Amino acid sequence: MMENQYDVVVIGAGPAGAVASTRLIQDGFSVLVLEKMEFPRFVIGESLLPKCMDYLEKLELLAAVEDKRFQVKTGVTFYHDEEVCEFSFSERYTEGWDYTYQVKRADFDHALILEAQKKGVNVSFNSEVTDVKTSAEEQVVSYLDSTGTEHKIHARFVVDASGYGRVLPRMFNLEKPAVSIPRGSIFTHVKDSKRTEKASDNIFVHAFRENTAWVWSIPFSDGTASVGVVGEVDFINECAEDDGVKFKELIREFPGLDGRFKDLEVMFEPKKILNYSISVEKMYGEGFVLCGNSTEFLDPVFSSGVTLAIASGYHAADLVCNQLKGQEVDWEREYVDFMKHGIEVFRSYVDGWYSGDLHTIFFTENGNPEFKKQICSVLAGYVWDKTNPFVKRHATVLPTLAKVISMATKT
Ligand SMILES: Cc1cc2nc3c(=O)[nH]c(=O)nc-3n(C[C@H](O)[C@H](O)[C@H](O)COP(=O)(O)OP(=O)(O)OC[C@H]3O[C@@H](n4cnc5c(N)ncnc54)[C@H](O)[C@@H]3O)c2cc1C
Repeated sequence: MMENQYDVVVIGAGPAGAVASTRLIQDGFSVLVLEKMEFPRFVIGESLLPKCMDYLEKLELLAAVEDKRFQVKTGVTFYHDEEVCEFSFSERYTEGWDYTYQVKRADFDHALILEAQKKGVNVSFNSEVTDVKTSAEEQVVSYLDSTGTEHKIHARFVVDASGYGRVLPRMFNLEKPAVSIPRGSIFTHVKDSKRTEKASDNIFVHAFRENTAWVWSIPFSDGTASVGVVGEVDFINECAEDDGVKFKELIREFPGLDGRFKDLEVMFEPKKILNYSISVEKMYGEGFVLCGNSTEFLDPVFSSGVTLAIASGYHAADLVCNQLKGQEVDWEREYVDFMKHGIEVFRSYVDGWYSGDLHTIFFTENGNPEFKKQICSVLAGYVWDKTNPFVKRHATVLPTLAKVISMATKT
């Protein structure tokens, strides 16, 4: 095979790209990952879901992750004013992993792509994809290396895993605005020396501003934590003014954080990201498929991004393998329907969070323990288990249950 010819080019070396390329190499295809940055690099999205462990295990990527001794995550706690609702992944409905990790993505993503490289994936860092021509016969991918020299690669298939870069959606005009209210986020990493037992090592999500905003804290295993705020764009812009003065004050003073970050010591100045929710007109075409954040990103409240990126990278690559082996692939049914189902389940929960229905359900004393287990499965990422009524009837079950609880508490 010529040096500039591969079976598959994968754009982006984040979790979606690392997983897709590892799946392709498993079936003996030659793969080149083109990544515009040098790794390790920062990206937000640090709290994983247990479901992603299935894929990492299947692809023999898990040992490389375990070696990093990341912070174990066994659940998630939601707060609203004085109310608390804790989910422990061990008390869930669906079979499978009951823990996962909280990770600095620079380290996690680097570990995954290095492991993919060890398995035979070719990776070119500092290689920014600038043009892609697709057709039924051949795909031609152009990229610039760090010296600004252009290269052309010929491939049988292209997987776009470029995340926030959204290379093919932009190039092929596939972007579609998200339907949700435009939100943004501001975040940093901080010293977490006052972590208490009560605070625990798990992710905390605290709602405030009449449920239009929330604060997260995600402890890491090295004694630091990620802290951030999500809210409507105007509020995030306000928090970000003057090097994030208001954001820092909020993290110092936020009642739910019990003074844990009172002597705030930041690892880097706060970063802001706005209007990240986005969708696409289509997820595949002749000679290409989109996965991870280059397809759709909803909202970070349930930490679904990396798990959906990993799931989509795995399933997209699985189908590329079939197609390259000459099998008929029904992309609409086998890929789009599958991914859309997972995304839509999370969408119902995100909508339920901001509408207040989930608050009614989460913060009601003596809720039904069976329902709690079923909801816990969704929060652990088991969104394809249709035996779970909270998956199967995701669009109606939350508003209905919230209404029943509200009526019962009024009487
Ligand atoms: C505020 C906020 C909080 C979040 N919190 C969480 C969380 O707690 N848990 C969670 O699971 N998710 C979270 N997410 C979502 C998470 O950030 C993404 O879902 C995840 O990073 C997607 O992975 P990916 O592999 O698709 O893309 P990425 O991780 O973005 O990787 C894409 C790669 O493509 C490369 N690339 C881009 N353009 C080009 C180009 N032209 N040529 C070559 N390479 C290119 C980039 O450099 C990058 O390395 C959060 C998101 C936001 C906005």
